[in-house]
Amino acid sequence: MELLKKTATQQHEALINKEVSAKELVQASIERIEKLDNTLGAFNSTTFDFALETAKKVDEKIAKNEKIPPLAGIPLALKDNMNLKGAKTTCSSKILENFISPYDATITTKLKQNLVPILGKTNLDEFAMGSSNENSAFKPVKNPYNLSKVPGGSSGGSAACVASSEVTLSLGSDTGGSIRLPASFCGITGFKPTYGRVSRYGLVAFASSLDQIGPFARSIEDTAYLYEAIAGYDEKDSTSLKLEVGDVSGNIKKDIKGLKVGVIKELMTEGVSDDVKTSIENAIKTFEKLGATIKEISLPLLKHSIGVYYIVATAEASSNLARFDGVRYGYRAQNCENLLDMYCKTRAQGFGPEVKRRIMLGTYALSSGYYDAYYKKAQQLRRLIANDFIEAFKEVDILVSPTCPTTAFDLNSKADNPLEMYLTDIATISSNLVGAPALSMPVGFDKDSMPVGLQVIAKPLDEITLLKSAYNLEQELQVYNSRPNI
Ligand code: GLN
Repeated sequence: MELLKKTATQQHEALINKEVSAKELVQASIERIEKLDNTLGAFNSTTFDFALETAKKVDEKIAKNEKIPPLAGIPLALKDNMNLKGAKTTCSSKILENFISPYDATITTKLKQNLVPILGKTNLDEFAMGSSNENSAFKPVKNPYNLSKVPGGSSGGSAACVASSEVTLSLGSDTGGSIRLPASFCGITGFKPTYGRVSRYGLVAFASSLDQIGPFARSIEDTAYLYEAIAGYDEKDSTSLKLEVGDVSGNIKKDIKGLKVGVIKELMTEGVSDDVKTSIENAIKTFEKLGATIKEISLPLLKHSIGVYYIVATAEASSNLARFDGVRYGYRAQNCENLLDMYCKTRAQGFGPEVKRRIMLGTYALSSGYYDAYYKKAQQLRRLIANDFIEAFKEVDILVSPTCPTTAFDLNSKADNPLEMYLTDIATISSNLVGAPALSMPVGFDKDSMPVGLQVIAKPLDEITLLKSAYNLEQELQVYNSRPNI
């Protein structure tokens, strides 16, 4: 069905004009998943019955000529670290392989209120730790533009299923770039809102001071609608912001004359491939053409962001993952001699190598004697990096850079080299450290026809300026209409 490749906004039009029913749309999405996903590996599990039930409710409303929410009936997938009651939440880990969620995440409750059919749970790097989706305990995800390349991670499944038109929308989580990097590698839009905008209740925690849920979509307009559907204060998340989200979708179409765009100097030089640079420079020129002014901005402490992140994120992860001990839920090792033996065997057998590496690193950074040298230092640097951003946003409205210095790399090419893998996040990590909203949008292709993503960052809480700038650029460039031949 051609309609599956269209944006959510176009699908909504088709639904309310009765050109197609929600049931037909969801059925087409199911058929595409059944046909493609053995090859792609984007889904860990599916929830087709639930999606069809939701579609039925939407069709009943349309039949009665009732108004439906903008995303009602639009096929969506959830990253498999967010809870949907009655469905598995595995985090792509053996330790949760058979875990069935007893409750809904807040984002799930909101999607249900908006009558959005959820078609399944998407593959990820185990516990969202990775940049290529190769750390899944079950299977890797392939890039829909080239099946021998990675889709990016950790939300690789959520990016690949939208890029390949298995579904129209999905949600991912972003701790250091896990929405933006896969969006960039798969040629779609991925958006990490300001920290605290979207409730983390029901998201399996990786690094609680950095984690944020956000949308994947094929257009900025769809991104804005999905963001509006999931954002807002939630008393179940103590870091949730008690602030109005505002009318985002209603404001993105305004022009950007006079917008001040800062180009991050440090991210335009070292290691940036020529093709990426060309597409990014073209996007910057397009901003200028649309009436924006361009300025180079230096963020001298940015080079420390990966080091800071791998102390803070692993410290928080080592604490968050302590709950997986074989006692309350998840996998439990058999034939154990005593309680300690059971803990050790459960965790040794249940966690994969990257998760273990991070638990060890984080435990080390937090241990007495090392805490001041590593964890405290990292927190101090985190503040200084945030100060650099505060200063930058006194001069410009948005900051731009490549989302990643390169396009998608080959499967297995970095899997044995964790340090090299960590470096892929050089451009994305700092917005998590600072809590700023940031997105990746497609702005071109390299010589092998792999997508190039532009990162746009705004100051905390300024989602409207961010999405408005991105919308204007998107409409001028028209790259967002490209789809892979799969
Ligand atoms: N790639 C980063 C990591 O491995 C970021 C992951 C994420 O954002 N969840 O930790």
